[in-house]
Amino acid sequence: MSQILYIVSDRRTGSTLLENLLGQLEGFGSVGELRMLQGHLKHEGPGEKWGWKCSCAQEVRACAVWGVVHQTIQLDELRTRLDHRESGPALFEPVAKAVDAAIAKLSIAGMEVAQDSLRILDEFGRVSGARVLVDSSKDALQGYFLYKARPDSVRVVHLKRSIPEIAYSKIGHRKGGVGSSLQMFQYLTSVALQNRFADAVVDRIPEAAKFALHYRDLATETASTLQALLDFLGQKAPATGLPTHMEPLSSHSIGGTPSRFERRPIVYDDKSKPYFDSHPLLSAYARWLEKNVKV
Ligand SMILES: [Zn+2]
Repeated sequence: MSQILYIVSDRRTGSTLLENLLGQLEGFGSVGELRMLQGHLKHEGPGEKWGWKCSCAQEVRACAVWGVVHQTIQLDELRTRLDHRESGPALFEPVAKAVDAAIAKLSIAGMEVAQDSLRILDEFGRVSGARVLVDSSKDALQGYFLYKARPDSVRVVHLKRSIPEIAYSKIGHRKGGVGSSLQMFQYLTSVALQNRFADAVVDRIPEAAKFALHYRDLATETASTLQALLDFLGQKAPATGLPTHMEPLSSHSIGGTPSRFERRPIVYDDKSKPYFDSHPLLSAYARWLEKNVKV
């Protein structure tokens, strides 16, 4: 059975970089965002941009790996998405109680999704021969249940990034530019709350099964950060050395594709800095959030 590495993160935190770097390691196989599997099969939800195709440019059913997985276990009825709206309570409400309530409410659905996901991951591992399978579904509660369903071989990596950087990147990604200060204020608040909730969920996973990773370290100290992650997983670094660039990969991942770009250097994205330098009130608010809304 393969080891499973589940990535918990917000959007816009560098998960594509992490997936790409892991995908360059011998023995690692990325399934992409397993959460999006049914969307890919049914052509629904996010994925229109890449035609809901696997990163090998084939339809999932026609892909050399996913197609074989589908023939063996019939993917159409399997659930890989824990649907929920839990994103954490308001700023001054305690988060631990909200996590307890969410786990209790979602436990049956959560374990079903975890069992179906594990069936798929096992089959994907068998077909691809990967020693470590990476599922970058991102959702913290889903990762918690996946860990619970198979604590001996599921490991969780929690990828983090600073609140202002995520907020700036999200706003720019969605609107094609940063809007009003009020909008940034709202984004900063919601990013802080979401990340605080994800943190509190990951808190429920034992230390030995989780690893926290910061986007800034991954982008600026890539080799030592990857080495620490490999040590945590009990995996050896490749004899050829650790990745130094983002590379096109021949992978079979779904949900946005780590392989659709050319070889390029790893660059730490700090585009938000000039914006916050020229907006001191928002910058102070972001600092306050980082200090008081522990994420
Ligand atoms: Zn494929």
